[in-house]
Amino acid sequence: TDLAKSSNASSEAIRYIRYNPNSGRSLPNLHNELSKLGFMKLDKPKYPLGEKEYFMDEHLGDVLLCFNGGVDWWNKSDWYDGGGVILQDKASCLPAKVLMWGWRGEEEGECIDATAAPGNKTSFVSALMDNKGKLHAFERSPNRYKTLTRMLEKAHCKNVVAQRADFLESDPESREYRKVTRILLDPSCSGSGIVNRLDYLLEDDVEESDSKTERLEKLASFQLQMILHAFKFQSAKRIVYSTCSIHPEEDERVVLSALQSKIAKENGWKLAPREQVIPTWDRRGRKEEMGGDEDLAQGVIRCLPEDRTNGFFVSCFIRDDPSGISIK
Ligand code: SAM
Repeated sequence: TDLAKSSNASSEAIRYIRYNPNSGRSLPNLHNELSKLGFMKLDKPKYPLGEKEYFMDEHLGDVLLCFNGGVDWWNKSDWYDGGGVILQDKASCLPAKVLMWGWRGEEEGECIDATAAPGNKTSFVSALMDNKGKLHAFERSPNRYKTLTRMLEKAHCKNVVAQRADFLESDPESREYRKVTRILLDPSCSGSGIVNRLDYLLEDDVEESDSKTERLEKLASFQLQMILHAFKFQSAKRIVYSTCSIHPEEDERVVLSALQSKIAKENGWKLAPREQVIPTWDRRGRKEEMGGDEDLAQGVIRCLPEDRTNGFFVSCFIRDDPSGISIK
């Protein structure tokens, strides 16, 4: 069994709830609702949390609420059905936050979520864009595409243009994407970091009969292909690659291969420094899996159940001077 699944961190499990500003409801109103339901807001983190206590997360403070793992208050409130709150693991919130670092609004261009369903990250990126401008969302699987469109509707996302399409078949030089400056890549992975499956849908197009090594090799080569394709978008300046895997084969090693690729070198892609990738998050990448380079390892994030999240990995590629057409 996987490392993450065998952890006993669940005794202190946290239920993370993301406030969704796209709903038109306000955060103070959410706190009022919770107070009516008998909850008390704490000023700082506490573990274990009492059943009627909550606090704002220290890394995603303005949107993420932390509750005792046993709560289910959203069944007694219209906030969940109304899309005012979304159940989303903390680790799953990090990629959108890293992607939208320093975002100054519509003048910056458009975004892509290349692998969108069920849409938790899409809806968070949409919210971080203030529900304005344009977020192109791709989803290849017909069933998951349906889930995605339902999710986007429930989350009141008005700036998302979703398409049932394979990102790898999109044309990076098409006029449609010429304003795209930021791309989120959260492709199918082994899911080895997932403690509970509530928030996730995994692709399973790898044969059951494959050995673990073959399976990881296939996934890693697909993940690398996705990054290299994203590198080709002419105006792209920032690309986040994340997985819910704890295997270095799908994490640091994929990032390193992408950085060493010809496309990366020709187009000036490098790894974002730690300052741009939630610097206050302590657990960084594995140096030994990144050619012994400490700066590269510091640039990426790992999450483990010890951090009270699912096992997760987040990295970010940047370049200063896209060769693409000016978006103005
Ligand atoms: N980001 C999503 C979220 O937070 O809700 C989870 C994404 S899930 C890990 C990966 C998704 O990518 C799956 O729904 C899968 O069907 C889709 N997918 C895989 N390959 C794709 C491709 N080439 N183009 C578009 N979607 C793809």
